[in-house]
Amino acid sequence: MKAAVCEAFGKPLKMKEIPTPNPGPGEVLVRVHGCGVCHSDLHLVDGDWASWGTPLPIVPGHEVTGIVENIGAGVTSFAPGDRAGVPWMQYACGRCAACKTGAEMLCAAQRSTGVTVNGGYAEFVCAPEAFVHKIPDGLDLVEAAPLLCAGITVFAPLRRAGNLAGKTVAVAGIGGLGHLGVRMASAMGAHVVAVLRGAGKAELARSLGAHDVIDSEKEKIGRALTKMGGADLLLLTGISARLFEQCVPGLGPNGTLVVLAAIAENASILPAGLLTGQKRIVGSLIGTRDDMDAMFRFAADHGIRSMVERHPLSAVNEVLGKLREGNVRLRAVLTPG
Ligand SMILES: [Zn+2]
Ligand SMILES: [Zn+2]
Repeated sequence: MKAAVCEAFGKPLKMKEIPTPNPGPGEVLVRVHGCGVCHSDLHLVDGDWASWGTPLPIVPGHEVTGIVENIGAGVTSFAPGDRAGVPWMQYACGRCAACKTGAEMLCAAQRSTGVTVNGGYAEFVCAPEAFVHKIPDGLDLVEAAPLLCAGITVFAPLRRAGNLAGKTVAVAGIGGLGHLGVRMASAMGAHVVAVLRGAGKAELARSLGAHDVIDSEKEKIGRALTKMGGADLLLLTGISARLFEQCVPGLGPNGTLVVLAAIAENASILPAGLLTGQKRIVGSLIGTRDDMDAMFRFAADHGIRSMVERHPLSAVNEVLGKLREGNVRLRAVLTPG
């Protein structure tokens, strides 16, 4: 099969012919229709995560959708021809404290698609049946691909927050994650505030369901949100410590800020501000398999789809370059066809 292979960190991926995997017992082989290009993939190919034990060579890609081509012995929940999605998490031990308490995405023994085992920048991907998800009819396979990482990342904290009808949900950063966050929060009945920079995406945010837009070039985020009563929930999807600092004061009483972006620099906030408003800052990492199944049902019921740029798999290095320069508008998806 054709695959884009990372042979050395910091170097372009190589388009190569490699053996098509054979599904072992309990495994499903999926013919890839789309694989989203996540910001994490840049960290992977740059070698930022080499300490996690990424083996080389590796095929990146963890937002994979396609059609089941073949199944291994003992597989009962999938048959050839089924629509399937392969996410980041493709194994968790089921025995550790994280797994037992329903936080399997924190399992230290986890295997990760396109990070520790070959992923979806290829014609085929193989994964254990228990971690492969059904993609409902009615969702386009290419548009559904980013739901496997960007989508679940915003859906899980929204779902965890409970009934959001009439609550103020702010989404800071309107990119691959943020545009889905606005769409989902709006479909859940929240009053949605999009926090963005510059006028470029204001119309888009409104068309996705944002009721208000805050342009951080024109007004102070904290002050603007406070004028609206403060955010009950704020999804931070922009990778910026300054954005984090400016969002914290915008939380309302008992408000929660959820960090969804891998911001790897220090930020400064006033802890007393958390005390007086009983505000919380939490992190959230992808979601559970149950969250994923719930998200796909929700996406199918509410017509939620990712807005994507489609690129052939052979253009992978150009696409990674565009992402690095900030020139991918929302989400790029590679198609091997
Ligand atoms: Zn991702
Ligand atoms: Zn575990």
